[in-house]
This record gives sequence, structure tokens and C-alpha cells, in this order.
Amino acid sequence: MQFSDFGNKFRGGTGIAELMHDLANLPEDGRTLYRLGGGNPAQLPVVSAAFAQQFRAYADNPVSFSESSASYSSAQGHKGFIRSLARLFNQKYGWPISHANIALTNGSQNAFFMLFNLFGGKTDGIARKILLPMSPEYIGYEDVSVDIPLFISQRPIIEKLDDQLFKYRLDKGHLSVSDQIAALCVSRPTNPTGNVLTDNEVAVLDKLAVDNNVPLIIDNAYGAPFPNIINVPATLSWHDNIVLSMSFSKLGLPGARTGIVVANEEIIAALTQMNAVMNLSPSSLAAAMLQPLFDDGAVLDLCEQHIRPFYQSRSEDALGWFRQSFNGLPALAHKPEGSIFLWLWFPELPVSSAELYQRLKQRGVIIVPGHYFFPGLDEAWDHKNQCIRVNIGGDAEEIKRGLDLIAQEIRTLS
Ligand code: PLP
Repeated sequence: MQFSDFGNKFRGGTGIAELMHDLANLPEDGRTLYRLGGGNPAQLPVVSAAFAQQFRAYADNPVSFSESSASYSSAQGHKGFIRSLARLFNQKYGWPISHANIALTNGSQNAFFMLFNLFGGKTDGIARKILLPMSPEYIGYEDVSVDIPLFISQRPIIEKLDDQLFKYRLDKGHLSVSDQIAALCVSRPTNPTGNVLTDNEVAVLDKLAVDNNVPLIIDNAYGAPFPNIINVPATLSWHDNIVLSMSFSKLGLPGARTGIVVANEEIIAALTQMNAVMNLSPSSLAAAMLQPLFDDGAVLDLCEQHIRPFYQSRSEDALGWFRQSFNGLPALAHKPEGSIFLWLWFPELPVSSAELYQRLKQRGVIIVPGHYFFPGLDEAWDHKNQCIRVNIGGDAEEIKRGLDLIAQEIRTLS
């Protein structure tokens, strides 16, 4: 059997496929497991109950059932939901958008597959790339290209802070956009680091994108107004040159596979055509079920009253556990400004992050090794092999004990 180059790229294994495989096939040999890997959000009882109530109401409503479950939505996505989302953005932010500025996708991972290939790739004989202005960046971007390798990235400036913390900063001095750049993209808050680019950093990127006539894609999977997992002041901006990606996943519904793109009408029209080819239409189930929560803004209250406070207090707790366990060890945590992770850096790690991952797995601790999170940064840099990502959304005792076991391994290696 012969596969195409495109097929072989996936058959050869990709970082994100390995991660998803490992998560689905955790060791089952009776050992206690400390599940600190993967990107599952926390399951908060009040939030889950609010969603379950919407699901029941939806099932009992023959009109919404007939319009969404029993029919294809438009290729742009569930119309009623898109309209209520446009209204929410008009009211909350005053953005001049209509339904023509929003498309739904089957999760934002699916949106990124479309967006990156919409802009990046060969154009008039030039290989055009996506600039990720600040590594580390989200692992899921890495292998989405159908054509040439798509990403160029650059190192951040590392600022050491007090109390075993550090923070990545955009290296503005080295930023430049040539005619080989098709778009800029940042996740904000950033997966894996929990960094939130400052308003000033976003303004620099925004200007760079506008000046060079390329879009700035902002991956807002953890950002405002939902799920709003942000612990520092940050302004959410949108205009015609910004492509904003959002998702239901970190609200607590990754199984819904619902992503949202807010962009200018030309981009939304292109995504709609791509949706038709790839999916006929994106799933409209969760959009239909949750629409009432977007109509009356209740979803924002859930975020403000439950989701954001949970992660804020959890990140403070997790930092406390980290400091306790790693006292006196060469270990730093990225300042957790948003998202659902702690990003740990071991500057003197004598083995690779992949080897550390295997050693921790032997101890029953599942994390994600850091080397996956540098898409487009091909240069040798020790830092790429000195970090790990830890999910802090799960059971508190599991995280605390898991961090302690990681510290024991680092101590053994030191
Ligand atoms: N972008 C970021 C920054 C993420 O962390 C994730 C998932 O973890 C995604 C996009 C993809 O999410 P989904 O496809 O579930 O919307």
C-alpha cells in the first residue's frame, strides 16, 4: 500500500497525536496515577449542573431539536447561536460585528487547521509561513500544514522573578515581518505557560500585522469573556485585521467540539466554504443547547463567579505546593497569569524532557514534556528540553502528590 506525502506526515506520528494517545492509554497496572497531563478542564459541579439543565431543556424542546439535531446547520454554523454571540460582543465590547463576522468550527483545533492553511503555504511560488512571535506556543499548531512546514518562531526574553517564578516577555527588538510571513499567531493566555501577553505586547503585534497587511490571529481559548481564565488585567481587542479564536472546551465542554472564529467577512466566508468541504456543516448541538445562556449573558456569570475564581485559587494553591516540594531545588514556575497549567523549568536538568517524562511515568505521574511546545523554533536551545507542563485542573490531592513526586525525581537527578 502506498500513502501520499500528506498521509505519511500523519502516519509518521505527530506530537499532538502522541499526547492524545498517551492520555487515552494510561498505564492500567494497578498503580496509583497522578494525571497531570492533557488539557482537560476542571469539572466544576455548579457549572456542569448549569450545562446539564440546558441539555435537558433542549431535549424537551421540539423546535430546537428539529433545527439542530435533525437538520444540518448552515456551513457557517448554527444561525441562532451566531446571532446571539454577535449581540453579546456588540453589547459587551461595542465591536461593530454582525453574524457575518462569526463562524463555528468543530473545535478550535479544527479552526486552526483551516486558518493556518488558509493563509500559510505556497502562494505565487513563495512559501509563506505563520509567525509565532513568542515561543513556547501551543503544541496543537505544530503539524497542521497540508503543504510546507508552516511555522517560524522566536525565543522570548526570560525574566527571573522572586519566589521561584519567571516570566516570558516578547522580544520586540528581534521581531520582523518579511513578505514570507502570511500571518501572526499567539495564544493569550498561552498554552503551555499560563503567560498573558500584556496589552502593550499585543499592541506591538497588532501594529506589526497591520503595517505588513497580514492578519493577527489571537487564540483566546482561555481568555475573556468566556471561559475568562485570566488572573491579570488584559484588554480583549478586535478589529478587521484580528482573527479571534474561541472555544467551548475550557468552559468545561471539550466533548462538544465547538470552536468560534470572529473575523472580517472575507475570512468568515472562506472558513464557511472550508467547513462545507471538510464537515458539510460544523456541529450545532452544543451551540443550540447553550444559546439561552448566551442570550441572557448567564454564561458570563458562570465564568465570573465560578470558573475564573476556581482557577485563580487553584493556581495559587498549586504554586504553594510547588514551592513546598521544590524548596532548595533548581526549579522555577512560570508566573501563572491565566489558563489551566503550571509550566515548570528545571535549568539544570541533566536529561531531556522526554526522558524526564518516561521517568515520571514510571512513578505514575503523567505530565507533558516541554519539547513539544516549540513549533517553528528549530534552533538548538537547551531551554526546550528543560520544561514540563502540568495540568492543575484535576483533583487537588493528586496534583499536590504529583508535584511532590516530580520534585523527588528532580532531586534524584540533581
Ligand atoms: N488553542 C489552545 C491554546 C488550546 O489550549 C487548545 C486545547 O487545549 C486548543 C486551541 C484546541 O481546543 P479545542 O479544539 O478543544 O477548542
